[in-house]
Amino acid sequence: MGKALIIVDVQHDFLPPKGSLAVSTGDEVVSPIVELMQDERWCVVVATQDWHPENHVSFARNHDLPDFSPFDYTAPSNSSKTQRATLWPVHCVQDSWGAQLAPELAQALDGLQCDHHVVQKGTLSDREYYSAFNDIWNDHHTGLDALLQKHGVNDVFVVGLALDYCVKSTAISAAQLGYRTTILKDFTRAIASDDRSMCNLKQELVQNDISLK
Ligand SMILES: [Zn+2]
Repeated sequence: MGKALIIVDVQHDFLPPKGSLAVSTGDEVVSPIVELMQDERWCVVVATQDWHPENHVSFARNHDLPDFSPFDYTAPSNSSKTQRATLWPVHCVQDSWGAQLAPELAQALDGLQCDHHVVQKGTLSDREYYSAFNDIWNDHHTGLDALLQKHGVNDVFVVGLALDYCVKSTAISAAQLGYRTTILKDFTRAIASDDRSMCNLKQELVQNDISLK
């Protein structure tokens, strides 16, 4: 029964005080995650990295629109498929400071005895990604599923940032791919953490057979 730890997007741009898309109190989870990584139960530890080209479709600047505007994305493979989502401030540009993993986490990852990997998402400019497994159209795959399969993983534990976007979407993909999936809530932070948002989020996790512990 292989267990994998997936650490989502613990990168400078998602961390206060200087990240361009900082998740409130996101910095509080870095040291606890570093400690969790040392647990002997993991057969593989994966850190994901949002990794965008400068011309990425999710940046409001590339549409001359204000940050956080709603936007109708069109599937590159099928122009009749659309999804409404949010345009973001420029973040996690490939090879920039903001795209680097938190240094404490990067160092801990390098020092791990068990197998460990970095998986990048958001790499194609014409599509948005939340899940670390695939783009929002489920057309482009990052290789994370193949990596977990190679390690004989049955159980996936997801932590990191942000709970209500990339952590949630990564967990939903994992569950849909057949992994027993758990989000460890003390090791995540949400962008919208009011009671109503959290209530909706919990419902969505239950519907997708994801545990929140
Ligand atoms: Zn992004």
